[in-house]
Amino acid sequence: MRLFTTVAALRCYLDLCRRSQSYSNDLNSLEIGLVPTMGALHTGHLSLIRRARQENRSVVVTIFVNPLQFGPNEDFQQYPRTLERDKQLCEQAGVNVIFAPTAAELGIDRQHSVQVIPPTFMTSGLCGAFRPGHFEGVATIVTKLLNLVQPDRAYFGRKDAQQLAIIQRLVTDLNLPVEIVPCAIVREPDGLALSSRNQYLRAEERQQAIALDQGLSQAEKAFRSGERLSANLIQAVKKELEKVPAMKTEYVELVHPMTLAPVEVVEEAGLLAVAARLGSTRLIDNVLLRTRKPILAIDGPAGAGKSTVARRVAEQLNLFYLDTGAMYRALTWLVLQSGIAVDDEPAIAELVSQSHIEFKDYESDAQRSKRIFINDRDVTEEIRDVDVTANVSAISAHAIVRKVLVKQQQRYGSSGGIVIEGRDIGTCVFPDAEVKIFLTASVQERARRRQQDLKNQGKGEISLDELEQSIFERDRKDSTRAISPLRKADDAIEIQTDHLSVDEVVGAIVRLYLEKLDP
Ligand code: AMP
Repeated sequence: MRLFTTVAALRCYLDLCRRSQSYSNDLNSLEIGLVPTMGALHTGHLSLIRRARQENRSVVVTIFVNPLQFGPNEDFQQYPRTLERDKQLCEQAGVNVIFAPTAAELGIDRQHSVQVIPPTFMTSGLCGAFRPGHFEGVATIVTKLLNLVQPDRAYFGRKDAQQLAIIQRLVTDLNLPVEIVPCAIVREPDGLALSSRNQYLRAEERQQAIALDQGLSQAEKAFRSGERLSANLIQAVKKELEKVPAMKTEYVELVHPMTLAPVEVVEEAGLLAVAARLGSTRLIDNVLLRTRKPILAIDGPAGAGKSTVARRVAEQLNLFYLDTGAMYRALTWLVLQSGIAVDDEPAIAELVSQSHIEFKDYESDAQRSKRIFINDRDVTEEIRDVDVTANVSAISAHAIVRKVLVKQQQRYGSSGGIVIEGRDIGTCVFPDAEVKIFLTASVQERARRRQQDLKNQGKGEISLDELEQSIFERDRKDSTRAISPLRKADDAIEIQTDHLSVDEVVGAIVRLYLEKLDP
């Protein structure tokens, strides 16, 4: 691990990495994940680092207590600075570079330097109302760090939900070439959200601080039982906070999670956020309330039976099976149809980024099925053509194709109630899916099943040895590829299917889903 305190050293190091890695002919090896922090690292920060470690070749952590985001009467001077300990934690977590500059090194000067001003409607409510200038300071430093490091992905906690929404907006509006990855809130066992500021709390205050989580949990419970009125959900939080007289509530608000506009009735999603002071410590917390039906994400190695199981589960639960394979085929069809060469990536990017895939219900006397449309044309049959089959791997290998499809899959998922399977659904496409399954089977068992399938299709006999070897090789490739490798999500439930029938696997997953619906 390297630690740099100057812009010159950081740039020099990143340039060297990019140059040496571009010789390796492996473009994916350039991937950099950035985790911006103010230091005093805790398990919340480490969860961001872990995720960045899993999704990128290199991880850069910045440690900088940013004076621009502190008001004149705030805790800039007292803010905990624990660089030696942070270094150890980063080293253990596999961080490649820590960038820990001074304000002077970054050229930060409140009076004279350019600042980034996010839209007022996003900064005026919630914390912005109590911390004037705070989000301008955050937006400015994050823009600087993104420009300096030029990461592929940058990781931010949902704990700071207003910050996250503003940064997402900033990246969209300024066309910054980075993916913002939101990460779940990490809590103490009693529910208190981890924060570097928790160490300011005196023993008694530490006990009282759990009221924030308790209030939000009460509101979440009411929401799950059908309460949709903002005023009632807010009241549920306030009721818990009021039990602690020492707690000085700054706000309890329910807003749209992306625009941060106040919401009266939760339609699809609402962000219920709270800020309060205990003594001199300011605490924030929030919960995302979603009306959507749970998403069921099934991942696992090739040949574990994911697609058969996913289709059957979807049928039994009357959910929509999002057939990602068909989506890749539809884009491949579009590219072939347009006459663009399969390796002309910019032209493919131009074409596919303007495409639109839809699944529509089709009902005839004989059957009820989904048909797939691309740019309003029904291509259900054409995507099975030999031409499409022969080119689908080459087209899917373009990063842009994957990017476009993941976006479209996420759009489908936003209303919930879908079953989707793949290799990185629970880790990358829907990291916040409510039910995650990791379906596996031993190499031997998968080879045996494959052999049986081939036999059933009349495709002759391939030896088990040969099949085992090719499955082994495929696993190795899938789990070591740089973009979205095959990996069990931390919160996925693993089902080992060696000794289970398809019915048993389907039954187990259906039960898990129903439990989620009605805990
Ligand atoms: P900070 O050092 O407070 O600026 O936080 C750095 C990053 O860590 C931000 O993206 C925070 O949202 C994130 N973070 C802080 N606390 C938590 C937590 N308890 N859970 C998840 N992320 C967190």
